[in-house]
Amino acid sequence: MERKLNIALISHDGRKAEMMEWVKYNADTLSRHNLFATGTTGRLIEDISIVTLDESTSKRTITYPFEGKITCLLSGPLGGDQQIGAMIAEGRIDVLFFFCDNLIVQGHQNDVSALTRLASLYNVAFATNRTSSDLILTSPLLTDPDYKRILPSSIDAYKHRRV
Ligand code: PGA
Repeated sequence: MERKLNIALISHDGRKAEMMEWVKYNADTLSRHNLFATGTTGRLIEDISIVTLDESTSKRTITYPFEGKITCLLSGPLGGDQQIGAMIAEGRIDVLFFFCDNLIVQGHQNDVSALTRLASLYNVAFATNRTSSDLILTSPLLTDPDYKRILPSSIDAYKHRRV
């Protein structure tokens, strides 16, 4: 059986349009998982609508694939990035899709750095751009029940270090 993952989604303002396009394109796949997002990103995802046209009747149907299906945390600059970082440290996030704006320094740059550090430390699948996001989302390993994320041994070694 396919594994249901905990997926976190974040986009900086300069990349929100790009993330919404990507999320809409992958709505079928993403909506099968538990989704978490920083506040504004999450609200925009909830508002995504898909229009389908029945050609035989010319009837248009509008659906909202993420309505009520995403946990919106605080806005990133107001603590949302740190909430997702804490979830990663607690083992509650499997994948992070984080469309970062690389052309400006964020007011909450320290939080961004802290989050990316934890994503790397805890070995979560982690993408900061669209191509990497595509590759992660389409990997057969993503939902393979036999594939286990390995925590680096350095974490255990750090916990039990002599001081
Ligand atoms: P937002 O936060 O989704 O609330 O805009 C994103 C971010 O971390 O900057």
